[in-house]
Amino acid sequence: MSKLKGKVALVTGGNSGIGYASAREMKEQGATVIITGRDLEKVQSAAQDLGVTGLVADVLSLAAIDELVGQIGRDFEKVDILFVNAGIFQPAPIGQISEEMFDHQMGINFKGAFFTIEKFLPLLNDGASIINLSSINAYTGMPNTAVYAASKAALNSYTRTAATELAVRRIRVNAVNPGPVSTPIFAKTGMAENQLNGFAEAMENRIPLKRFGTPEDIAKLVSFLASDDASFITGGEYNIDGGIIINPIMN
Ligand code: NAD
Repeated sequence: MSKLKGKVALVTGGNSGIGYASAREMKEQGATVIITGRDLEKVQSAAQDLGVTGLVADVLSLAAIDELVGQIGRDFEKVDILFVNAGIFQPAPIGQISEEMFDHQMGINFKGAFFTIEKFLPLLNDGASIINLSSINAYTGMPNTAVYAASKAALNSYTRTAATELAVRRIRVNAVNPGPVSTPIFAKTGMAENQLNGFAEAMENRIPLKRFGTPEDIAKLVSFLASDDASFITGGEYNIDGGIIINPIMN
């Protein structure tokens, strides 16, 4: 259980959900882990639980990312695993999407991811692994997800381009596309509880394996892609969704 021994891993949005589980898994696999988030108290509390380093950086602020790069450079010198996980899900119907809503979701899910990588490049070791947390939503036509889906589709497109450009440094870039996973992300949408329950039931019916994913399911795949076991894998996208994307009918 030490396939990440000697590696330094940064997990953006590591204080909750998939990021938290992935930080724990990577630590168990021997990595030195740093998590980030927006809220000092939440990041510190999660970091303490996990026994890792917790730092605050809002990915909407390029200055905050610069500061993070400076601090990690001073304290850890180099990074081997960059898990670009921070993201939000704010469903809204077409016709009711303001510029502010568009900029906020695109700003975190795509621009924030993009500039996290851009700014961490000088700190990445040759042979590093970048994992972008996307979504099967990049490919589905789920109602109310126009901005979210586009932000993740942009991230997948970026993943392919980056994989070709960064291969010269043996840096691998892959994307993970989860289906529905039980995390706090849905509660943060502001949807009423009965709406959330209806959504969860409809999703579960649609998933061939008949359950939501767990953060730990995703963490195992992330940890594999981060490891040298995946040293010939780059530019790939990995659906991890209980089969929902291949199921065209509700059953
Ligand atoms: P979560 O809400 O539990 O975690 C999201 C994390 O992102 C939190 O740590 C939060 O602090 C961080 N974050 C949000 N905005 C940030 C910002 N501006 N700066 C820094 N950090 C910020 O949700 P989760 O489900 O674990 O989501 C993690 C990733 O997985 C997201 O990118 C999400 O889009 C993606 N995803 C989730 C699901 C799902 O069903 N839960 C499915 C597909 C993809």
